[in-house]
Amino acid sequence: MVVSDAIGSEARFDAVLVGAGIMSSTLALLLHELEPEMRILIIERLGAPALESSAAINNSGTGHAANCEFNYTPLKPDGSLEISQALAINSAFERSLELWASLTELGKISPASFLHSLPHMSFVSSETNIALLRQRYMNLSVRNAFQDMEWSEDEEEIKEWMPLIMNARDSGQKVAATRVARGTDIDFGALTIAYLNELQLSGAVELRLSTEVISISRSNDKSWRLSLAGTKGEYFVETPFVFLGAGGGALSLLQKSGIPESKSYGGFPVSGQWLVCNDPSLTKMHNAKVYGKSAVGAPPMSVPHLDTRWIKGKRSLLFGPFAGFNTKFLKNGSRFDFFRTIKLSNAFPMIQAGFKNFDLINYLLGQLQLDHSARMNALKEFFPQANSDDWTLSIAGQRVQIIKMTKDGGMLKLGTEVVASSDGSLAALLGASPGASTAVSIMLEVLQSCWLEKMSTDIWQKRLKKLLPSFGKDLISDESLLDQLRHRSDSLLGLR
Ligand SMILES: Cc1cc2nc3c(=O)[nH]c(=O)nc-3n(C[C@H](O)[C@H](O)[C@H](O)COP(=O)(O)OP(=O)(O)OC[C@H]3O[C@@H](n4cnc5c(N)ncnc54)[C@H](O)[C@@H]3O)c2cc1C
Repeated sequence: MVVSDAIGSEARFDAVLVGAGIMSSTLALLLHELEPEMRILIIERLGAPALESSAAINNSGTGHAANCEFNYTPLKPDGSLEISQALAINSAFERSLELWASLTELGKISPASFLHSLPHMSFVSSETNIALLRQRYMNLSVRNAFQDMEWSEDEEEIKEWMPLIMNARDSGQKVAATRVARGTDIDFGALTIAYLNELQLSGAVELRLSTEVISISRSNDKSWRLSLAGTKGEYFVETPFVFLGAGGGALSLLQKSGIPESKSYGGFPVSGQWLVCNDPSLTKMHNAKVYGKSAVGAPPMSVPHLDTRWIKGKRSLLFGPFAGFNTKFLKNGSRFDFFRTIKLSNAFPMIQAGFKNFDLINYLLGQLQLDHSARMNALKEFFPQANSDDWTLSIAGQRVQIIKMTKDGGMLKLGTEVVASSDGSLAALLGASPGASTAVSIMLEVLQSCWLEKMSTDIWQKRLKKLLPSFGKDLISDESLLDQLRHRSDSLLGLR
């Protein structure tokens, strides 16, 4: 990877993207494909790309498609299931697969370096949760997007699906599971690096490492001036377009930009931890992501799951995440991060959001008190024969959940949100989940918000359709198009 650290002179770029994670790299890739002459600068404060949330060990690596995650099918007050979120995330992930298939076809990335086919399963054992899982299965499996979902209450069959989880379990205990064979495990860090390597070959995209954006201001009506601190001092760059893909660091940069839209937001950090096992005799016995049902009060991203992972090509097992709380907004951040983002404009909404989310706060306090043996007990509910010596604790990435000022006061929002200035010259991505799996759809949203004029030109439309054959069409309502695209993606990416 070519790395530069030019200092001393002011420089001008067509676009400056802050942060070298999956989001900025996806946007850089799309912009470069749409306008190959565009001069793009990516700035990263750490010494290498993808060391924060996008690093494989810092996230779960689930290609989120709602195949197994209960949180995308919440219960409505009338007892029926809401499946619109499940359909939306499923089609957003399909779009990511579509882009990766096109880039593979063009010889620009190699799927084996970041993508593994891995069944996605849900597993439950109480009467109430079995009824809920059955309801989920009945509602989803009638849709094309989930037509391959299988249901089982048969102990022997479930044992074949997930031997590690079923071995030594009390026979007679009622259990149920669903399986979607077409699931994935993704190393988003490896994907980020694959994009950046390809982009740097072009010569039009520059990656500047060990360089932090410390402030951002308007230099005139048409440009932004970013103040950078690199290994050799401070200097500026100017650009008409800025994307703040700084993960947990995006909120404070957005506030520094001073755009009025920034005033409506605050952030609440939730940290995570995994139990990791690298013993080959165990890793070979589990070939799935198995999601359970979260505890009462647990935030949706804390649904416990036992996953096969491929991290830097090595197979391991991860169980978690266990949630926690510290005041950093980045894993490599500062304990002051949270306090620095509290402003007069967002302090009251943040207090309101705290009062409305006592369940979450209680849950986090409970998680903070867990020791290794308590974590092992949680694992044993999944894998009864788990041995404490085989599992070590690993710290995951920080998630900064959005607190947004709404007409009903401060609200905690668990998704991601693109915040753009009214003139489209700056956009920031706030929030954490579902995140990386939907990076392509999220970056299309950035393009729609900030490059509207260009997006309607024939040349950009043509180039987008070449990369994303379904661009402009709705994969939720057009089920035959979905089938067609799945076939294309599966064969190009070797998914089945
Ligand atoms: C515990 C956990 C589990 C997750 N599980 C999944 C999952 O299973 N599937 C999924 O799809 N998503 C998952 N996610 C979400 C996913 O990891 C994120 O959505 C995604 O990685 C965010 O990418 P990013 O590029 O926005 O941020 P990051 O990868 O965090 O990158 C931001 C970069 O910006 C840099 N930066 C910050 N501030 C500055 C600055 N001032 N100047 C220069 N550089 C700066 C940082 O150093 C960092 O490299 C999970 C996240 C966590 C934390």
